[in-house]
Amino acid sequence: MFKALVLTQLDKQTQADVKLLPESELPEGDVLVEVSYSSLNYKDGLAITGLGKIIREFPMVPGIDFAGVVSESADPRFQPGDEVILTGWGVGENHWGGMAEKARVKADWLVPMPKGCDAAKAMMIGTAGLTAMLCVQALRQAGVTPEDGDVLVTGASGGVGSVAVTLLAQLGYRVVASSGRVEVNGDWLTALGASEVIDRSELEQDSRPLEKQRWAGVVDTVGNKVLATALAQMKYGGSAAICGLAGGFALPTTVMPFILRGVNLLGIDSVACPIEKRVKAWEQVLELLPEQYYQQACQTIGLEQLGEYAGNIVKGKVTGRVLVKV
Ligand code: NDP
Repeated sequence: MFKALVLTQLDKQTQADVKLLPESELPEGDVLVEVSYSSLNYKDGLAITGLGKIIREFPMVPGIDFAGVVSESADPRFQPGDEVILTGWGVGENHWGGMAEKARVKADWLVPMPKGCDAAKAMMIGTAGLTAMLCVQALRQAGVTPEDGDVLVTGASGGVGSVAVTLLAQLGYRVVASSGRVEVNGDWLTALGASEVIDRSELEQDSRPLEKQRWAGVVDTVGNKVLATALAQMKYGGSAAICGLAGGFALPTTVMPFILRGVNLLGIDSVACPIEKRVKAWEQVLELLPEQYYQQACQTIGLEQLGEYAGNIVKGKVTGRVLVKV
């Protein structure tokens, strides 16, 4: 038997309960993992509260990422005792996920634990941190350098945002963090490496098609008007890596930033990101993220607290990363 957070539906409402299940109920897969840690991401919040249509088949074990130890493997790439990480691939959405003591998954979805990392550290980074790294890599590949000027990070207090602020600052960029919680989180964002913290409301208004040029690069986790304004304020030839929709999936923009300033929109997906790119991103994020991030930006909860924390993350009330000890 193993303990898991199980989502069911009653009268179209999602229920989340911690239950004991027999191993035989696990879905098919070639590797069985004893999960040590998962983490709480925005998508988990939507799934657990039922506020987003993330899950279509119930019962479902949520958890879009996990880290643990292989206990059985039918795939030669993994042996019992190997430490592994999983993020994405629809796990926790349409295949039972990481908020459980055990998970059975496809070997293709697993990344071997990088050197110098352990399960707790991997999940403090988690899907959010990996995605932040992918955003930063995309900006660098697009040629955005620290000399080009300020880089804006939106939704800066969140998981993706706070890791992006930290990584960019480590790489020498001048980071401007946009937050709806400047009063509470301003000093914390500065300690992570932001050179300036601006109020989200500055960007949340209707913007003109082109505004004064401010940003050489953008990491956007919010979407909607915030992203539209950021695009109107991009410097000539700048790039925006966009990964999120915490403020809504709309993008009320015009073609002007693209056709008159040569702005680049870089779409970032971590779910089906190819394995080679993931492995590199894991190596880089571990190399760049300072010890201070894990200490100042991460908190640990258990399966029983997930209901409360899921409600908080979708309301934009969680700061930094939430590690889930299963
Ligand atoms: P978090 O909840 O940790 O962070 C989101 C942040 O956005 C909040 O902390 C808050 O920051 C801000 N925010 C919250 N609500 C609103 C709102 N209504 N309007 C504007 N800003 C808001 O989530 P994650 O960091 O886990 O994820 C961020 C986004 O990125 C999500 O949309 C998620 O789905 C997406 N994502 C996408 C991935 C991909 O592969 N493309 C992978 C991982 C995440 P503040 O208070 O500072 O403003």
